[in-house]
Amino acid sequence: MSEDKHTHIAWLPDLLYTGGRFESGLALVSDRAGRITHLTRDVESIIAPPARIVRLAGRALLPGLVNAHSHAFQRVIRGRTERRSAAAHDSFWTWREMMYRAATRLTPEQIYDASRMAFLEMAASGITAVGEFHYLHHAPGGARYSDENELAKGVIRAARDVGLRIALLRVAYARAGWNTPPNERQARFIERDAAKFLKGTETLRDDLAREASNNAHTQGDVGADDANLKSAWVGVAPHSVRAVPLEYLREVCAFAAAHDVMPVHMHVAEQPAEVAACLAEHGRTPVALLADENLLSDRFTAVHAVHITPDEARLLAKASAHVCACPTTERNLGDGIVPADLLFDAGVRVSLGTDSHTQVDLLEDARELEYHLRLQKLERAVLAPPPQGETGAHAEETTTADQTAHAADTDSDSLSSLAARLFDCATTRGATSIGATGGGELAVGSPADFFTVALNDLSIAGASVEALLPSIVFSLVRTAVRDVVVGGRRIIEDGQHRERDEIIERFTDLQRELWR
Ligand SMILES: [Zn+2]
Repeated sequence: MSEDKHTHIAWLPDLLYTGGRFESGLALVSDRAGRITHLTRDVESIIAPPARIVRLAGRALLPGLVNAHSHAFQRVIRGRTERRSAAAHDSFWTWREMMYRAATRLTPEQIYDASRMAFLEMAASGITAVGEFHYLHHAPGGARYSDENELAKGVIRAARDVGLRIALLRVAYARAGWNTPPNERQARFIERDAAKFLKGTETLRDDLAREASNNAHTQGDVGADDANLKSAWVGVAPHSVRAVPLEYLREVCAFAAAHDVMPVHMHVAEQPAEVAACLAEHGRTPVALLADENLLSDRFTAVHAVHITPDEARLLAKASAHVCACPTTERNLGDGIVPADLLFDAGVRVSLGTDSHTQVDLLEDARELEYHLRLQKLERAVLAPPPQGETGAHAEETTTADQTAHAADTDSDSLSSLAARLFDCATTRGATSIGATGGGELAVGSPADFFTVALNDLSIAGASVEALLPSIVFSLVRTAVRDVVVGGRRIIEDGQHRERDEIIERFTDLQRELWR
């Protein structure tokens, strides 16, 4: 891109998101290393030529969305599971059998192509970083590749080729389940031995570090080894209590604790059957087991946490653990509803993921976090913080409905407080969960990762400055996303990615080949 040759770029939209609200007249300045150096109303006095000003007329600029839970290859089964199977009752488990049909067959090249397709769709929807929960390690049938991280590296390459940052959350998968015979369809995931799994993880980490330092050397990258400017890093992901025995789990968590900023992600309480099996094996639910074993921490993210109790929400909060909700997938699979109200009340940080990629639109996940609770409780604004001045749950009984409505209409903070909470889930919370230091916010020193939306898009046109964030969170459609910038580099311009046609063509060929 032409921006690359300039030392600084000043991005000047009509409106810029400054946390909970938008302001006009502000420019975001990024340097060559891809970091935000200024947020200023006085661009001219700060940067001199060869700096460049990029006017983003008619656009609002927001921090990049962070997708905290993805299985990129599952993009290939989109549209292929919305039917009844031979089973009497379709569920997550019958869906999983259909998903395994793809997982057992994909070649390394096909995994790269499918991942690139998923990441392209993410980029086009404003996502700038992804946590990829990666469990395809071996060849079809379970034979080892000469490089044990061959597939992980292909997925990382796909993210980089599209331009996204990626946390490769390398999955530990030891068994089909407690007292469950091996399932040959899981042969590509299995790493029975914790020591082997950890060695593979360490090798991937070292390989990425070596590559980053080589790139910095050959390209003269400024600050490429800064933690908050990394394009790819490694985390660990014990798949679930079902798939990983306790001793193995302890070793994986101990390994992560011994390494700085290594996120730990795990599917937790997605399905009632998983909770029941954990009770049968350990006499405790998954969250209680993790808490008793001291395995929850501020680097731990429980993905889903659908079937949990208020006490378990408090256990997660006490350990400063995160939860990643994936509402578009959870509704598709019939998993249930994430009790985000319990989690918010307890103080748990909630992030969002597009998971199975039935739909790739993180703002849809954000609004569904709230909408599912509305349907369940027959209430509105379930996750909104109480209006300022109200202290108790029944404070509204002391005012008339008219007074309450009027106060909410005129107070811009109250107008956008629910949207701001949900937007935080899609940005800062996700960044912390996947270890993207400084990501998800527009602050000096943070990576210059952001997206813009067209203010005249049909889905948000006419929104006042105060109503813009709620309009974006509850109503934006993806066509409104115009620019996506990662590390100061524009990967989507006017809604288009440079490689778009080639990525789609290769993916279309792959689908034809895979499902013929
Ligand atoms: Zn998942």
